[in-house]
Amino acid sequence: MAVYDPKSLKAEEFINDEEILATLAYADENKHNVELIDQILEKARPKKGDKGYVCQGLTHREASVLLACDIPEKIEEMYKIAEEIKMAYYGNRIVIFAPLYLSNYCINGCLYCPYHLKNKHIARKKLTQEEVRAEVIALQDMGHKRLAIEAGEDPKNNPIEYILDCIKTIYSVHHKNGDIRRVNVNIAATTVENYRKLKEAGIGTYILFQETYHKKSYLELHPTGPKHDYDYHTEAMDRAMDGGIDDVGLGVLFGLEMYRYEFAGLLMHAEHLEAVHGVGPHTISVPRVKHADDIDPDAFDNGIDDDTFAKITACIRLAVPYTGMIISTRENQTVREKLLRLGVSQISGGSRTSVGGYTEEERPHDTEQFDVSDQRTLDEVVNWLMQNDHVPSFCTACYREGRTGDRFMALCKSGQILNCCHPNALMTLAEYLEDYASPETKKNGYEMIERELERIPREKTREIARRNIEDIRNSNRRDFRF
Ligand code: SAM
Repeated sequence: MAVYDPKSLKAEEFINDEEILATLAYADENKHNVELIDQILEKARPKKGDKGYVCQGLTHREASVLLACDIPEKIEEMYKIAEEIKMAYYGNRIVIFAPLYLSNYCINGCLYCPYHLKNKHIARKKLTQEEVRAEVIALQDMGHKRLAIEAGEDPKNNPIEYILDCIKTIYSVHHKNGDIRRVNVNIAATTVENYRKLKEAGIGTYILFQETYHKKSYLELHPTGPKHDYDYHTEAMDRAMDGGIDDVGLGVLFGLEMYRYEFAGLLMHAEHLEAVHGVGPHTISVPRVKHADDIDPDAFDNGIDDDTFAKITACIRLAVPYTGMIISTRENQTVREKLLRLGVSQISGGSRTSVGGYTEEERPHDTEQFDVSDQRTLDEVVNWLMQNDHVPSFCTACYREGRTGDRFMALCKSGQILNCCHPNALMTLAEYLEDYASPETKKNGYEMIERELERIPREKTREIARRNIEDIRNSNRRDFRF
C-alpha cells in the first residue's frame, strides 16, 4: 500500500488515495465545527506586513474543511477573504490570452473529448506553418499578445518538432504593431528531453490538466492511448521542472469525478511541487466539461452547479494565494463575472476552439474541441472588464525579464506588484486601445488609465509609466516594461 509523502516522486505517494479519503472524512467531521472553521479562515486572511500583505495559504486538509462547510455566513466570509487576497496580490488586473488550436489529430481515447481516436466523423486538421502565420496575424489583429497553444497527442502528426516549429513561427510574426510575446503550451505529457526543448523554444507556462486525480476513474476515462498511463501523466510536472520549465499550470476537468476528491488532489499536487521543487504551480485552471461534437456533459455524473463552482474557486484562492487562476470561455459572462471577484487572475477572450478558427469569418464548428459559452469579441470582453472595474492586462513582462518560478513568487510577496505589474498592465492596455480598440472601448480605457495611474505608489514609476503611455499614443513605439 502506497504511503502519503508529498516529497515522493511517485504519483501514488504524492497523490495518495488514502490521504485524500482521510481528508474528506476529516472535512465531513469538521464541516460544522465553527471554532475550527474560524481558525482556518483567520489563517487564510491576508495580514499586513512590512512590505505589503502576507498570506499563509492553507493545507489541503484545512481547505477541504472549508469546501465541505455549508454554513451560509461562513461561505460568505470565504468569498470575502478570497476577494481580499485577490486584491492584495493581483489587484484589479486581469491578464488576457487566447487559445490557439494547432492540430486535433489524437491517438488517445479520452471519453470526454471529441478529439478521441474513435471519433471518425469529426474533421481532422493540422495547421501548416503558413496557416499558423495566418492565425497569428488574425489573433494579433484582435489585440492578443499571449497565446496558449493546444494540440491532441499524436507522435506521427504532431511530434515535438512540429510543436517547436509552430512556436518559432508564432514568435516570428510581427504584423503591424502586433506581436505574440508569450506562448504557453498545453500538450500531452512528455519526456524531460522534450520539456527541455520547449524551454529552449522560449515557452511561458507548460499547462497540463490532470483531468481527474482519482486513479480508478482516470483509467476508465482514458481507456486507450498513451494518456492511459496515470503515473506518467501525474508525474509530468516533475519532468517539466527537471527539464527547466519553472512555470507549470495545473487543472482538473470538473464534472468527471467528485469535486471534493479533485480539490484535495489538486492542492496535494501543488504542495508536492512546492515540497520537491521549492515553487508551487504558476497557475491553476478550473475547466468544467462542456458539450462538444459527440460529447454530452450529462453523461458524466459529477457535474457541479455554479454555486459549488464559485465555492471551489474561492477555496483555491484561499489555499494557494500566490497561484494565478484561469477561467476560459467554457464559462458564460455571468459565471465569469462572479469568479473574477473570487480570485481568478487570467481569462481568455474572443476564443475559438477549432483548428484554424481565427481566420474564418464565421465561428466554425467542424473541428471544435468544445462549445464556447462566452462568444463575445475581445473588444467586448475588454470593455466589459473595465465596466466591472478590472484592468485588462496584456502584460508578459515577468517571463521576459526572467521573473519566473520562485522569482515571480518573490515579486508577489515583496509588495512591489503595484510598482511593477500595475504600470505594465496600464502600458499594455494603452497599446491595445491605440492599435485595436473600438472608439467606445478606447474612451473608457483612457479614463481608466487616468484613474489607475494614480494608484502607482512610487512617484518616479508613475511618471515613467505616464510618459510611456504618451509615447504609445503619439508614436509607434511599443513594448515598454518594468
Ligand atoms: N491533448 C493534451 C492533453 O491530453 O493534455 C492537451 C490539450 S486538450 C486540447 C486541452 C484540455 O481540454 C484537456 O486537458 C481537457 O481537460 C479539456 N477538454 C477536453 N474535452 C473537453 C470538453 N468536452 N469540455 C471541456 N473541456 C474539455
